[in-house]
Formats: sequence, C-alpha cells, structure tokens
Amino acid sequence: MVAKTFRGGVHAHYHKEDTASKPIRRLGPPARVVIPLHQHTGAPCEPLVKVGDEVKVGQKIGDSSARLTAPVHSSVSGKVVAISPHPQAGGRDVLSIVIESDGQETLDEHVEPRADVDSLKADEIKAIIREAGIVGLGGAAFPTYFKLTPPPGKSFDTVILNGAECEPYLSADHRLMVERPGDVVEGAKLLLKATGVTKAYIGIEENKPDAIEAISEAAKGDDRISVVPLKVKYPQGAEKQLIWAILGREVPSGGLPVDVGVVVNNVGTAAAVKDAVVSGMPLVERVVTVAGSCVAEPQNVLVKVGMLVSDLVEACGGCSSPPAKVIIGGPMMGTAQFTMDIPVTKGTSGVLLLNEEEAAPVEPMACVRCGKCVEACSMRLMPLWIASYAEAGRFDDAERMNALDCIECGCCSFICPSRRRLVQAIRLAKSEIMAKRRKAQAS
Ligand code: SF4
Ligand code: SF4
Repeated sequence: MVAKTFRGGVHAHYHKEDTASKPIRRLGPPARVVIPLHQHTGAPCEPLVKVGDEVKVGQKIGDSSARLTAPVHSSVSGKVVAISPHPQAGGRDVLSIVIESDGQETLDEHVEPRADVDSLKADEIKAIIREAGIVGLGGAAFPTYFKLTPPPGKSFDTVILNGAECEPYLSADHRLMVERPGDVVEGAKLLLKATGVTKAYIGIEENKPDAIEAISEAAKGDDRISVVPLKVKYPQGAEKQLIWAILGREVPSGGLPVDVGVVVNNVGTAAAVKDAVVSGMPLVERVVTVAGSCVAEPQNVLVKVGMLVSDLVEACGGCSSPPAKVIIGGPMMGTAQFTMDIPVTKGTSGVLLLNEEEAAPVEPMACVRCGKCVEACSMRLMPLWIASYAEAGRFDDAERMNALDCIECGCCSFICPSRRRLVQAIRLAKSEIMAKRRKAQAS
C-alpha cells in the first residue's frame, strides 16, 4: 500500500534509535507522588480526600461538576500527606495531592474486571471513560468522553487512531503498539461502539514496520478497522494533517475534526479506554519516553501519574552530563522546564534531557524572504507575515491572516534559515486575539 501524507511539513532528524527497539520497562511505585488536580483541558478538580486519608490504587481523589473536566485517581496506595500548590510542566503552580506510597499497591474496591463488556451501550462506555479520567494521551490531554460526543447538529462517520508519533525522540506509542497491539485494537472497537461509527483507521508512520505488522495482525478479521501506513514527515500526527492524509478531507478554517465527521484519538488513549472498560482500571499510569544525550539510560518506561520527573530520570540511570535543556514532550511542540521537581501527568509523552549542542539557542537574523516557512506550513498560512505583524503589535492584521489556524507545530521556525522565532511570535498573536475575543464577549 502506498504511504499517505499531507502537504507541507518538514523532515527532522528523528533520534528515536536509542529507545525504539527497547521493551517498555515498568517502574515500581515511587516513594511519593504529586497528583495535580488540573492536568487536562477544562475545569480543575476539587479534592475528594483530605490530609491523613489512606488511599488505594485507582481511587478517585478529585473531580468536578463542570461539563468539561476529567477526574483524577490515586496511582499508588498510601497516605495523603499534603494538598498544596506544586509546579507543573506548564509553568504554573497547580493544586496537587501529595501521597506517600506504602509500596503495597492495594487496589481500590471499584477496580475490577467487567463481565458485561459486550452488552454495554454507547452512553455507558462514555460514562466509564469519563469516570476513569481518560484524556488524550498524545499531549493535549483533552477529556476523551467529551470528544466522543458530537455537538448538536453534527455527527461522526469515522474514527481515526493516531499512531504516527512524528515528534523526534518519542517512541512511547511505537512500543505500545508493538507490545500491546491487541489492547489498542480492542480500544478502537470500544471507540467505534461509543461513537456509533462503523469505520476506524489506524495511521502509523512507515518507519515503524513492526508496529504496522503487529496492529494489522491484531485487527485481522475485523473489516471495520484498517491500518494506514503514513509517510515519515512532521507533523504527520497532527489531527488535521492526519485526516487529510487518510481521508482527503480538509477541516475548514476555525473548524474541528467533527466538522468533517471525524474523531481522532491517540493509540495510547485507545489502550487506556480498553483498560478502563474491560479491566475497570482508571488512568493512573502511562508510557513515557525518557531520552536525549544527557540521559544515562534512555528508554520507555511505564510510569505512575504523579511520579516526579527528577525520580523518573534517576530511575533511568540519572544524568550522564548536566542537561542544558529539559523538555516535557517532544522537541517540536514540548515545553522547556526550569525544574525537574514537576510530576508526570496524563499528558506527559516524553522527558528529554538535551545537551548544549542540541539546545543551543541561535540568535535570529533578518528574514531573507526565501519562502521556506510558507512551503513548510501544512496549514497553508504565511508564517513570516503573521509573525511580523505580531512583533509589530498589529494583532488585527495577524488575525486577518488566520493566525488562529496555526497549530503551533514549529515547522516554520525549524526550517527558517534565519532562525526567526516565528512560532513564538504567532503564539503571542493567538493569545492576544483570544484575549480580545474574550473581552468582547464579556462586554
Ligand atoms: S505557522 Fe503555525 S501551523 Fe504553520 S508551520 Fe508555523 S507553527 Fe506550524
Ligand atoms: S523561512 Fe525565515 S527567512 Fe525564509 S521567508 Fe520565512 S521567515 Fe523569512
């Protein structure tokens, strides 16, 4: 089958060789976890426990009555020792529940395999997904149950699972597909049932032939599920680019995948759905890629949500040399950190420790009007102009040039020979435009 792709994008050096062929290593419970009450898109949770309470693995410890939210659960058994603000990867302090593990891994009594999976109705599956606190594991952490319900007047006809994993360094999804293909496919079937859809595609970049083979084998015999090899190109895993590559449908400017009848979920999210529905286990752990030149033993690890990044790096042999930059996520869309005293959250796909050479900031120079940023932009934007308007404070002009359609993939900055900080300027424009819209709505 010919691999599919989208227009634009860039070819980066993928740096996946240090981790992609090693099996996922399961880490035991750390001595302490810090579980933020806000680690998803939507409203933060309120704590359901207090200091001194004993908790068990899978016990719900935070929830909210808001429509868009996701409950949080304890990832260890032990005692709540603090409920206080703690730094998180986004740079903010977030109210978090600190639990000292007793090392016993005692399961909450609500965590038990479900016998009646085949008889579950769509709304029951979505309710289980909501209660299990499942969010998009690709990094966006958007509550999955919410995504599975189309707004009034819209409907889905296709489910897409994203197994592209196009960000350099990251190989967590790759290993998951190789080691748990049956769970990914079971998750896809549950997502089909939850959405009432009869067709699912699983898109995987063709540099992961073992994953393509494993998932194809697991899906064999179910005509509703097709594996689609994708060309190796960044940002192949972005929702709109994935939909275009697989279905040839273009999400309209300002629109969402549901506008073209599609719901996209990460392959890790699908496996988490299977765990929640079949095993009754909420989202309390995830696979994280720990990589970069400064990690002593780069690898993929199955980690408790709430484990501190500093403990995680120690579990991977510590730093082989002092990192010049620590990034949570991938190098293209991840966020640089000023401390490793932050917890792994549901959206943490990678922890990268980069050396001076990898992280060296380059001074931007004048634009040479080469047009490479325009060619690379898969959203068909004019990055040089939007960034110039943003730098001049002309946010209305940036809005007129569809700045809000920017998916912040970073391709324009990556390809720019003058090393202009295009995506940073466009991000500023987006936040100014959104602030103006909020102000207009409030008045
Ligand atoms: S303008 Fe936005 S969407 Fe286009 S390449 Fe730059 S970061 Fe990506
Ligand atoms: S890639 Fe850089 S130098 Fe080339 S047109 Fe875009 S902003 Fe200018």
